Amino acid sequence: MSTKYIFVTGGVTSSLGKGILISSLAKLLQARGYSVTIQKLDPYINVDPGTLNPYEHGECYVTDDGAETDLDLGHYERFLNAPTSQANNVTTGRIYQSVINKERRGDYLGKTVQIIPHITDEIKRRIKLLGRKGNFDFVLTEIGGTVGDMESLPYIEAIRQLKWELGKSAIVIHLTLVPFLNASGELKTKPTQHSVKALLENGVQPDILVLRTEHDLNESIRKKVALFCNVDSNSVVQSIDVPTIYEVPIKMKEEKLDVTVLKKFGIKPGEEPKMEAWNSFLSRIKNPKKEVCIGLVGKYVELPDAYKSISEAFIHAGAVNECKVKLKLIHSEEVNADNVSGFFEGLDGVLIAPGFGHRGIKGKVEATRFARENKVPFLGICLGMQIAVIEFARNVLQMTGADSTEMNELTKFPVIDLMEEQKGITNMGGTMRLGAFACKVKKGSKLFDAYQNEVIYERHRHRYEFNDKYLDDFKNNGLEPVGINPETGLVESVELKGHPWFVGVQYHPEYSSTVINPSPIFVAFIKACINNKK
Ligand code: GLN
Repeated sequence: MSTKYIFVTGGVTSSLGKGILISSLAKLLQARGYSVTIQKLDPYINVDPGTLNPYEHGECYVTDDGAETDLDLGHYERFLNAPTSQANNVTTGRIYQSVINKERRGDYLGKTVQIIPHITDEIKRRIKLLGRKGNFDFVLTEIGGTVGDMESLPYIEAIRQLKWELGKSAIVIHLTLVPFLNASGELKTKPTQHSVKALLENGVQPDILVLRTEHDLNESIRKKVALFCNVDSNSVVQSIDVPTIYEVPIKMKEEKLDVTVLKKFGIKPGEEPKMEAWNSFLSRIKNPKKEVCIGLVGKYVELPDAYKSISEAFIHAGAVNECKVKLKLIHSEEVNADNVSGFFEGLDGVLIAPGFGHRGIKGKVEATRFARENKVPFLGICLGMQIAVIEFARNVLQMTGADSTEMNELTKFPVIDLMEEQKGITNMGGTMRLGAFACKVKKGSKLFDAYQNEVIYERHRHRYEFNDKYLDDFKNNGLEPVGINPETGLVESVELKGHPWFVGVQYHPEYSSTVINPSPIFVAFIKACINNKK
């Protein structure tokens, strides 16, 4: 079968959940035996979100090949259980960067370089690149932003051209909102009509409309939308609010979105999608037998999207343990030595979040100290592991003022220090230690217990490292390096002896956690929290 292209645009408002919709559709197609991949096109000028503050754009997600990407790619991987790569996230910045580089090389042979055709050609090239090798039956492309935004125009134009070029091999799904007006007690379709009009003004007729709604849409509303927007009424699909994003594929299956899509391509639907594993995951998260409460200490607690992969990894790991994981977000700037015990009331474990810069570090150190001294299960991720090392150096090894050189360049005890290859770097974009690296796991450690494997691969995103000058001090006093990079000798994981469960990892286990393959270290952490409760 030749590769089919599915474009998903959004209308009316942002945050309707295009990422979840596209992941759900891709999941259903995958469960019918097709090979699928999902791509996101982001209309901002940053080359990638790696340099963006989480307040701007939520978490920065990292792929195996070290791309710093939009958090929607996390959803794609969690739903499909398949890795994405650099090619799966393209921004306007990256498009312009390659066009301008070509122009500087003289590739355009004296032509005037313009949005049409040069920018749109580059967009189309990036879309078709994924389908080119014939690896995928379906390439699903999510267009970031909302139709009508000035910055998404070149993308809509590229889709218009592609639809024309690809004929029956491309369709457009438009996701919009049908708001409910409390005062009149009515569902309103006008915003949807307007947003389809906006698409039509740009020459794109959507093939399928997915309507986000808080209430069931009856036949007459669907018919009305179909009539005004030139689609058949089978192609108007409702997407009703559900308690968990993992239920959306099931809802889309009930609405036969996958069947409608296949029919648009002239493909016979065949057997029903195989969703047994997914359904059993769903039933476990809906019917937990126990509950734990975990404190997540970070500085972006007002913005849960900043820790998206972590909170999802907890859901996956909770399901394995048939346990509901309640997350209590603790603002690291609010924690100090005097009030720390109060924050731990009712907690079964604590996670110290990744992060950059010195804001909130003190609170993280205090929370780590409390967890270490009071034998509370502890997981430190990236900066969280570095904090565990700093806290141990200061309070156990008596290295007064021990620090990471990220926070204090002049510290007497730089227990966390810049990697050698990072020292000359002045360009901040895409220059961290990024992507998946091997880690050799010490047998008999908690890390080994969790992974049951001597070599694991996990993703990284950091510039600083455990300073191995102090390796023996830590080892001899109970904070033991148990995960080592086999090529560089860098410390990837430490754990505390004589503590029920205290593990720090320099890598980000949350990025590779999926519904079907939950992160082993999260699973083990939840288990430890359950045991701590007993
Ligand atoms: N700021 C730390 C570093 O760059 C940790 C980064 C992180 O937590 N992702 O090494």
